[in-house]
Amino acid sequence: MEADILPGRECGSCNVCCVSLTIDDPAMQKVQGIRCKNARPDNSCAIYPARPHTCREFNCGWRLLKWVKEALRPDRSGVLIRLHYEVSSTTQERRLGVIFTLLDRTALKADGLAESVAAAVAADVPVYLNVPGPPGYTSGQARLNDALTHAVQTRDKPAVLEVLRRARQQGRAGKYVPIKLKHRPCPAGGGNLPSPAR
Ligand code: SF4
Ligand code: SF4
Repeated sequence: MEADILPGRECGSCNVCCVSLTIDDPAMQKVQGIRCKNARPDNSCAIYPARPHTCREFNCGWRLLKWVKEALRPDRSGVLIRLHYEVSSTTQERRLGVIFTLLDRTALKADGLAESVAAAVAADVPVYLNVPGPPGYTSGQARLNDALTHAVQTRDKPAVLEVLRRARQQGRAGKYVPIKLKHRPCPAGGGNLPSPAR
């Protein structure tokens, strides 16, 4: 896995992470689906030199992983990829996985989605599909490696996409609850959160 930012993978006008992620930093909190109050109309950050540690440290998988296709820039594809570290319960080894968040239904049609998911599964990287709840609510998430193994081994792209489609459908049928933040008793801007809608 690459850890450095890949040449040419600049954020540009993308600010998907400033909207789609929950940030629970001592310096700033926001819940997923709600645009950060520091994001300017042109999507730049109004406090860039003093942005919180969480923002400084974050880069999405599109910027870091060479097997993620160029076409999957989050603002153009609707797919946000995050790195995810997990510890093996047997070996205690720290292992890198990836979380594919499909921000909307059209993300399933993104160029390079099936190929990027297949590349991760083929390399035995843990792959999770994340389905966001309504703004301010939790998300659904499931590990997909087992469900995708056959489709990847047989290079069956429609079957890969079908597994993703079904997993998204199941995620959307799950139960979402309001996000609780560590650094504040109530989600920032979360006083009037909409009820989960299907
Ligand atoms: S989602 Fe990725 S490409 Fe978009 S602004 Fe965040 S780090 Fe940059
Ligand atoms: S503080 Fe700046 S970098 Fe961090 S989420 Fe808000 S707009 Fe984005």
